[in-house]
Amino acid sequence: MQYKLNYGRLTLLYFFLFLTLGLFNCKTTNEQAAIEKTLKKFDFYKVSADIQTTPVQNPDDAADDPAIWYNAADPANSKIIGTNKKLGLVVYDLNGEEQFFYPVGKVNNVDIRYGFLIGTESIDIVGCTNRSYNSISLFKINRETGELKEISLKNIISKTDEIYGFCFYHSKNTGILYANLVSKDGSFEQWELKADNEEISGNIVRKFTLGNTCEGMVADDESGILFIAEEDRGIWKFSAEPDQEEGKLITDLSNIYLKDDIEGLTIYYADNGAGYLLASSQGNNSYAVFERANENKYLGSFMIVNSETIDGVSETDGIDVINLGLGEKFPHGIFIAQDGYNMETGNLTNQNFKIVGWDKIANIFEPKLIIDAEYNISE
Ligand code: CA
Ligand code: CA
Ligand code: CA
Ligand code: CA
Ligand code: CA
Repeated sequence: MQYKLNYGRLTLLYFFLFLTLGLFNCKTTNEQAAIEKTLKKFDFYKVSADIQTTPVQNPDDAADDPAIWYNAADPANSKIIGTNKKLGLVVYDLNGEEQFFYPVGKVNNVDIRYGFLIGTESIDIVGCTNRSYNSISLFKINRETGELKEISLKNIISKTDEIYGFCFYHSKNTGILYANLVSKDGSFEQWELKADNEEISGNIVRKFTLGNTCEGMVADDESGILFIAEEDRGIWKFSAEPDQEEGKLITDLSNIYLKDDIEGLTIYYADNGAGYLLASSQGNNSYAVFERANENKYLGSFMIVNSETIDGVSETDGIDVINLGLGEKFPHGIFIAQDGYNMETGNLTNQNFKIVGWDKIANIFEPKLIIDAEYNISE
């Protein structure tokens, strides 16, 4: 009787031990299994990361959205600005090393524009949705060092319930800089930014609602188009100017290569209106590429898989891309993606961002994608 009971307890103990180890093991190999699952189903293009950033300070889902700042005077000293959505903004160099950290709040999405006028001073401006204050927070980039200086942390407060996605739009028609935000329930606000006597202020010039969760947004400054990703549905196209309301879905989940959530959006600019719209298809760990012009035809998808030294990328939130050459290391620009599961020597660690030279992505497509390292949309 006694022995039987002990054996039973021992069996139970082993069972729980097995379960715990099994779960742990499952967690650490999760990413590879997820990547392989997509590859089994689709013949997506595969690249590996060239570099990765320092992991963010917080565990779990913390890294979210990146933006690339182009240093016109010294392209090799361009920076990557990433959000740690639990704590603040991080600035990395092109080796992925963390250089500066700003604990400014729960910043979610980040974007950059060049040559915004404050009085007579032209600045490069960083904007983000800050969930600590339900505000749009703005920073000036030090063009020498890449350091950030706060110019508005909580002056521009959204009327929506829960601020979420963000992008700038710099109108070529009027020269006006707009800060666009979307809330977790799909309410959109377009703010016209003004700088008087060094004070930044904003007015809402357009609002509408998409009714469901939206986050990823990007504006094409050249064509005046605003793209918004509705996470469980597809990608919308609106005029980026505030005078129009009508939107149009350019793609949805009937495109079998997309799997919800549709997350980050970014634009690859090239000369003569060419280039691409890229979207993070979070549910199948891939990035879909569409033509930037015309009807935004789908061209194919790629994934970031393991290299010998850097793990693959899965469940990506934010992405960014830049066509401009960034010095010797990345002469053809880069693509950057948040990595949902950052593995270091087989162990899950804090999230980070992975960076791939654009030429690697462009050359693996059939037919090849454009590489235009010269065209500067901001000039
Ligand atoms: Ca996430
Ligand atoms: Ca961004
Ligand atoms: Ca999201
Ligand atoms: Ca969702
Ligand atoms: Ca990973």
